[in-house]
This record gives sequence, C-alpha cells and structure tokens, in this order.
Amino acid sequence: MRIGIDLGGTKIEGVALGADGRQQWRRRVAAPRGNYDDSVRAIAGLVAALEAETGERGTVGVGIPGAISPATGLVKNANSTWLIGKPLSEDLSRALGRPVRLANDANCFALSEATDGAGAGAAVVFGVIIGTGTGGGVVVHGRVLGGANAIGGEWGHNPMPAATDDERPGPACYCGRSGCIETWLSGPALGRDYATDGGDPLSATEIAARAADGEPRAAAALARYERRFARAIGTIINVIDPDVIVLGGGLSNIERLYDNVPRLWSSFVFSDRVDTRLIRARHGDASGVRGAAWLWP
Ligand SMILES: [Zn+2]
Repeated sequence: MRIGIDLGGTKIEGVALGADGRQQWRRRVAAPRGNYDDSVRAIAGLVAALEAETGERGTVGVGIPGAISPATGLVKNANSTWLIGKPLSEDLSRALGRPVRLANDANCFALSEATDGAGAGAAVVFGVIIGTGTGGGVVVHGRVLGGANAIGGEWGHNPMPAATDDERPGPACYCGRSGCIETWLSGPALGRDYATDGGDPLSATEIAARAADGEPRAAAALARYERRFARAIGTIINVIDPDVIVLGGGLSNIERLYDNVPRLWSSFVFSDRVDTRLIRARHGDASGVRGAAWLWP
C-alpha cells in the first residue's frame, strides 16, 4: 500500500492507494496553521488513521508547498512559512518510524498525471497548476525531475517572454521581482488585467463565464491571457519539449484554453510543427495527494 499526504496551507489530505493504484481511503483534516510541531503530529496522526482503516502498513510520500533544499535538507520556498528552515523530512521519518519521501506539491501533481492521469504513457510531462499561483513540475519517464536546487519546473518566476512596452516592468511579485509569469497568468492576475481595462472586480472563473456569454471586454482579457500563456509556455516547450502539458488548478476549467493556446504557441516554438498536447488534469484536486503516494515506486 502507498500512502500519500498533501500538506496544504489550510488542510492536510491523505490517501491510501492499493497496489493497483486504486484509492482505498481518503481523509482530510484541518492544517495546524503557524505551528510546525503540530503539523508533524497531524501528518503522523493521519497516516496512523489511514493504516488503522485499511489494516495495512504503507510507504509514505508527502507533497509540500515548497521544497527540501538539497544542500541543507531543510524546507525552503514554502508559502506556509512556519515550515521554512525545518528538518521536516527527518522529523516525519522519526515520527513514522520509516523513511519518508517529500516533494514539491506541483511535482506531485505532475507525477500523478504522468503515472495514471492525463499524461499516462507520455515520456516527458510538464504539469502546470494555475490558481492563486503558477506552479509547475517536470516528469521524465515516470520520474520527477527534482533538480540540483529542487526548483525543477518552477516556471512561474521567469520573466514573461517577449514583454511589450506596456508590460514592462510588470506587476510586482512577492518573490521580489516584477513581471514574473505568475503575475500575468495566475487567477488573480487575470482578474487584475480585466479590472485594469475597466471590468468589474471578478474571479477568473467569472470572467471566463462572461467571455462565453459574449461580453467583449471579458473576451479581450481572455484573448490577452491566452497569448501570454502561449508566450510563456513556448519557452518551456523549447527547453524540455514535453509530449504533454497537463493543466490543473482553478483555471484548468476554462475550456477555450485547450484550443486557443496551442493555436498561438507555434509562433514561439522553434519547430516547423508542434505536436505537444495541452490537456486538462484527469484527477483534478486529488492529483497532489495521489502523486505524493506515487513518490514510492
Ligand atoms: Zn516572482
């Protein structure tokens, strides 16, 4: 049995997968915000509960909103800031009495979709989560590309390619720079772009609904969004040349992206034709926790 844990900012989710990959049990508890020791205890408690329910002992993989620094073994880049600088891998292994594998949550998403999701069978999968942020992960031949700095796939803080004069320097980003891809492609970024053009303060989903109803301003905002998406993902295609790009997160529900972005990206890809497919995640919200389970072969 494989146990996957998704450590989020507000909730911790656990899943037990049988040898065939089928979900045997899934459970969710509130995340102890701001308290590291309680977070470790909550994960250990969730694993114990899953094992009590199934009557089996499992391997444990954990998806975290950050990464384990290869240099120090400590958590870095986590928006759940109470985890930063903590030896989470070591503490979880001790609490659970077995080795535990940890990975960035977007990497877990990509691994889930590459293993038995929308990218199953593809050699190179780029997984993208677009919601409040713009995460990414790369899976090559079934294995996560972690990287020397544990930032493999983190495309969100690259500058937006081919920025026009009115896109420079671009919106300020929490990472300290301006005009990052995330500041143009996240859900809030689409809302900001629409509002800047005189639109109502709406969510990305609401703007997409208005565009589908034929509102010209919403349609124009989505057209700008799609072109920016094509520019940003074009540079990724040039570097890792994925067979499949799997889209997850709130904005993956905008149906028109799957036709329009691939139509636009050829202009930004160094190839006479582009056979890369852009597809929606199969496992939806469950991908993160499933991918954590798949961290063990
Ligand atoms: Zn940034």
